[in-house]
Amino acid sequence: MVVTEERKVLFVTVGTTALLAEMLPAELRWRAQQFEADVKNWARSKPLSGPLAGRREQLYSEAVNAHRDVWLGVERNGFAELAQSMKQTSAEMTSSYLLATHPKHGIGKFRGGRDRMVLLASDTHIGELAARVNAGLMHQFLLEGGCGCGADFLKDGLGANGKCPSVKVEVVEGMEAKEGLGRIGGTLKEICQRQAEGYEKVLFNITGGYKGAIPLVTWLSLEVFGKRPPLFYQHEEMLSVVRISLAAEGEPVVDELGVEPWP
Ligand SMILES: [Zn+2]
Repeated sequence: MVVTEERKVLFVTVGTTALLAEMLPAELRWRAQQFEADVKNWARSKPLSGPLAGRREQLYSEAVNAHRDVWLGVERNGFAELAQSMKQTSAEMTSSYLLATHPKHGIGKFRGGRDRMVLLASDTHIGELAARVNAGLMHQFLLEGGCGCGADFLKDGLGANGKCPSVKVEVVEGMEAKEGLGRIGGTLKEICQRQAEGYEKVLFNITGGYKGAIPLVTWLSLEVFGKRPPLFYQHEEMLSVVRISLAAEGEPVVDELGVEPWP
């Protein structure tokens, strides 16, 4: 008998720590702050052009390179390296890595072509850029055995979405502080239902990103997905992840997973 593993989809809410985390190289962080200040008043629907678009692409490759050094170290030395350098990389990567690799989480590694990670980005230029940086890193480091789809998140930008079946960036319309916040509910639901179609196991990583989205993600888990997918959260000071499982009746079960090193 052939036993097929459940295909899983992980939704990851994304903030800006990939570009603005305190321990990133000072030069990169400074440039990211300048970029954020300069594009602040541009609606994301208005595409960046000229020097601003050039700065965005430069920032993208610089950020990916800075994080890549950390993750190459983690690939070589595992947990010990992560414990050392957790603050030099993004909250989304660290938490998703812990979920995928720690034996206690029971989620198991993500496989290219079979599983999917969906980055839920805020509707701003800096938010989209941070999501792309995370997508490039997840594509390289979190898919067991690589992906083999040929997508390049640097060259293809958001066009990589169409090429790669396993890592997706979704800009959530309305997930933005200045306007349109009222639209977020319907948008988020539509995106999550569409991206989860055909996947048996749904998971949410709510570590990063806009906190206003969390009640909606909780509602999605309770009311939209039949098996009530768990929510995972990692605090930046902790090398462990909290799992929140919502029950149909009674209190949610909250448990802390994995503090001790492995393997
Ligand atoms: Zn791919």
